[in-house]
Amino acid sequence: MTASNALPSAATAPGPDPKIAMGWLHTAKFLTTAPELKHLPRIDVPEIAFVGRSNAGKSTCINTLTQQHRLAFASKTPGRTQSINLFSLGKQGVVDAVLTDLPGYGYAAVPKEAKYRWQQVMGNYLQTRDNLKAVVLLCDPRLGLTELDEVLLDVIRPRVEEGLKFLVLLTKSDKLNKTEAAKALQIVKLQAGGGDVKLFSSLKRRGVEEVAQHLWDWAHPKEKPLKTAQVQIETEADLDNSGTQDLPPQTPGLP
Ligand code: GDP
Repeated sequence: MTASNALPSAATAPGPDPKIAMGWLHTAKFLTTAPELKHLPRIDVPEIAFVGRSNAGKSTCINTLTQQHRLAFASKTPGRTQSINLFSLGKQGVVDAVLTDLPGYGYAAVPKEAKYRWQQVMGNYLQTRDNLKAVVLLCDPRLGLTELDEVLLDVIRPRVEEGLKFLVLLTKSDKLNKTEAAKALQIVKLQAGGGDVKLFSSLKRRGVEEVAQHLWDWAHPKEKPLKTAQVQIETEADLDNSGTQDLPPQTPGLP
């Protein structure tokens, strides 16, 4: 991947008190499962998708973030027919976001047809799911971004350029020492073309709260106060100018 096809970074300023974000994630409930996009319900709240190679630590990450032991099944059989799983989020029963667990890919023993089917399901979902707001790519730093991860980055690139948030999590970072972790971070940052990359460990709870804050931010985008402020400034300026100063002396209709 070259600098010319760089991916813009995810949001940099994490949002609310981590407790709020973690409490919100704890509300996660299984919503539905489907073999492909066309069987999924249309939903009009923000959706955040988790993707990655089989064994990258995706299920464990989802379970850690939602503080639930078996929400995503960590003990699944690699390469079995997999589905798109949706989990709803929201306090007091009001769903305000959805987490999506997409099938893990890259398991060597998967037959060709199943691999092809995965590509179709993932590509279709990532390219056309209307309410998709963010993608979290899980990657084992000891393997780095693999060819399939790069294919996925290429698939989502046009949407990232249009504002889709994107974050790479280097999972199982507890298995690396400081030097290895720094090196892995640097390499994957380069591979991801400057996209946002973070070290993560479910085991050591590294990065958990920070990621939770990002998810909250993506699901609860702030209003744009800047525009309102500009309008106000313009209005005040108009009022100030309603005297004579910046107006031509003989403006018709003015005293
Ligand atoms: P998935 O296939 O991407 O859903 O991966 P899993 O969540 O099932 O994890 C694959 C393996 O990695 C399991 O044996 C997990 O126990 C292990 N694993 C997941 N997260 C961590 C972590 O943060 N640290 C360590 N050391 N192992 C982890």
